[in-house]
Parts: sequence; C-alpha cells; structure tokens
Amino acid sequence: MATMVNLTINGKEIQAPEGMTVLEAAKREGVFIPTLCYHEALEPEGTCRLCIVEVSGSLRHAIRVSCIQEVKEGLVVETETERIKKNRRLIIELLLGRSPYSKELLDLAARCGVVTSRFRTGEDDACVRCGRCVRVCRDQIGAYALCWVNRGYDRKITTDFERLSEYCIGCGSCAQVCPTGAIKIEDRGDERKIYTWGQVLARFKLEKCKECGRPFAPKKYLDRINEKAYKTKGLELVDYICPECVKKAEHRPTPVKTPFGGGGMPFVV
Ligand code: SF4
Repeated sequence: MATMVNLTINGKEIQAPEGMTVLEAAKREGVFIPTLCYHEALEPEGTCRLCIVEVSGSLRHAIRVSCIQEVKEGLVVETETERIKKNRRLIIELLLGRSPYSKELLDLAARCGVVTSRFRTGEDDACVRCGRCVRVCRDQIGAYALCWVNRGYDRKITTDFERLSEYCIGCGSCAQVCPTGAIKIEDRGDERKIYTWGQVLARFKLEKCKECGRPFAPKKYLDRINEKAYKTKGLELVDYICPECVKKAEHRPTPVKTPFGGGGMPFVV
C-alpha cells in the first residue's frame, strides 16, 4: 500500500499517496487548475506552464509546475494567489497569440479571466508547442514519427528532415490529442493525409472494409493493431472490417465474428 503524505491545498489539509503529483491531488479534491499540455493518457512534461501553483512549507517558497511536482509531507500549495493568476493570464495571452481560435484555449482563457491577447502574431499556425502529439506518437504508438526542431520562438514540430514520414502509421492519435487542431487527419477517397500548418507529415492509401467496401484505415496502422493487439493473444487479423460494420455486426441476431472484436478501432493502441 502506498505511503500517504499530509499536505495542504488552498488551506485545506489533505492526504495523498506518495508519488502523486500536486495536480492530481488537487483534482481529486475538486480544485481546478488549468492545464493544456497535460493529458491523462500521457506522461506529463510541464511544457505549457499553465498549471503553475505557489508552494511553501517543506519546499522553498516558489512557483512550481503542478503536473510534474510530486506531493510531499508538509507541502503547502496555493493555486489561486494574485501572483499565480497574473502569471497564468500572461501565459494564456502568449498561447492565444499563437492560436487565437482554439476552443480549448478560449475556454481556459474565459475561465481565467482573459478576454484578448496583446501578443497576436498574425501567423496563426495554431500550434502552441504543447508537445502532446510528439508524446503520444513516441510513448503510446511507439512510432517516433514526430520531433522538435529549432529553438525559442522558431521551435516547431515536424518529421525527420521535414519530409513525408516513413515511420508514421497514420493512426491519427496526434490529431486526436492536439488541443488546438494544429495537426489534422483528412480522409479523402482512398487516401489519408496527416498534416499540420504548411507541411504534409504523411500520406497513406486506405484499405477497404471487407463488409461495406469503404476505404477506412492505412495498412501500416492495421499491421500495428495486428502486431500489438492480436498476435500477443495468439490471434491473427485476417479481414479488415471498419468500426461501423463492427458495431452493426454486434447488433445482428447472430453476431458476426470480426477482427476488431467489439471495441471498434482504437486510435491510441
Ligand atoms: S498519425 Fe503518424 S505522426 Fe500521428 S501519432 Fe500516428 S504515427 Fe504518429
């Protein structure tokens, strides 16, 4: 059983298991801390800095990033001090400068009392450099198709040598976790395109569903599902059937056996 530590969040004494982050502990207590680069399915990296809190007690009085700061015995956490609110508003303004139309970001801005940004760049490439796409591709999919290049303001996400990626499997997880819609997945006819501002990251021909004939997934992606979800169970993916046909099959009086079992196609494998 995990050792519990005692700490206070906004004056309330709580207990949390050792190893838990301050953000998780606050969430458990119903305390709202804004986040953007944080995603429950991914390892936190503390990139966006939105989840800053003020700590003291068992740690030197300072501003810390709550998604990577672990709870400690005797820690005193304040999530809504004037200093924190001021810094957070500045961070949101800077993020809005990059991505002024992101719904997730605009909702956060409204919640933090930010109406407009002084830092509009006019470029509006929408990417806020949160790195969710890089982490999901690397840590969940294991494809390592995306990487960072450049530094400072010019830092951006791309593929090796900024060419069409040979590692991408076309799963679309990067587009799914992107908070601003900067990475997009587009299926047109029998082609899937993964792209971001000004760059196509990868292109694929889509395999057809054996039931309805609709092109629905790249072979590389189906091969990965076969490898990760089927072969490990001693099974083999034989026929490609789209998630919609899987659902229909489940509602037939005699269910049809499908390679996708019952869950449809997972985006995050
Ligand atoms: S679509 Fe390609 S780049 Fe995006 S997460 Fe999947 S493998 Fe990575």
